[in-house]
Amino acid sequence: MSEKNSACRALITGGSRGIGAAIADALAAAGHPIILNYRSNHAAAEAVKARIESTGGQVELVPFDVADAAATSAALERLLADQRPIGILVNNAGVARDAAFPLINEEDWNVVTRTTLDGFYNVTRPLVMPMVRRRWGRIVNIASVSGVTGNRGQVNYSAAKAGLIGATRALAQELAKRNVTVNAIAPGLIETEMIQNAPLEHIVPLIPMQRLGQPREVADLAAFLASDRATYITGQVIGINGGLA
Ligand code: NDP
Repeated sequence: MSEKNSACRALITGGSRGIGAAIADALAAAGHPIILNYRSNHAAAEAVKARIESTGGQVELVPFDVADAAATSAALERLLADQRPIGILVNNAGVARDAAFPLINEEDWNVVTRTTLDGFYNVTRPLVMPMVRRRWGRIVNIASVSGVTGNRGQVNYSAAKAGLIGATRALAQELAKRNVTVNAIAPGLIETEMIQNAPLEHIVPLIPMQRLGQPREVADLAAFLASDRATYITGQVIGINGGLA
């Protein structure tokens, strides 16, 4: 591991459950002190912290709503006052509010797009300049296959994730010369609480691998992109979906 990578903390948004929690496990195993963000599920976040600390890792819990600009700004200001750099950011927080388009009300539109897009902006912008100054950084955005292909019943979610992919590609171009990489992961169906009400009996047969993905499988890819092994990968959208797309 390079000196710049080994010294840095990793911030994971939406890290109390599912994919984000698995990414926290993987980055802690790679030796990074973890800053674990989530919105409100303190018990789940405490469980992740206890698990990682039991294996010798370090975790700081930092709950805030990534869609709330003021709350995010206050939390990041405090985190950035600590001299230890935040070299890795995983924008993972996300929500789905699925419905046929005519039934998507304003709240369902706003909560999904704001969590993903305002969340990306609110969290990423304050962290970019310190990465640029340090000439090392890794930004990994958790998008979705729905943002790549579109998905019926998910116009809000597909729009938000497609927007995140556009932001990934543009920011990657801005930061490439500074050794800060920006990539997106586009998972297919991953076994977490997010999909617990999905009609899996109809969906799983459509997946060439005939199974759901596991959070750990996404986390391994995120940890690779955050590592020094991924020095020449930027601006990419990497699918992890059992052959679905
Ligand atoms: P879960 O619903 O299991 O977990 C969501 C996490 O995000 C929780 O930690 C939750 O915190 C947090 N969160 C939600 N809203 C906010 C917010 N406004 N501010 C801060 N944290 C927030 O989701 P998954 O693990 O399944 O999904 C993780 C990411 O992966 C999401 O971006 C999702 O869109 C994406 N994804 C998931 C797929 C899947 O099949 N599961 C497929 C493709 C992409 P709290 O516990 O406090 O509520």
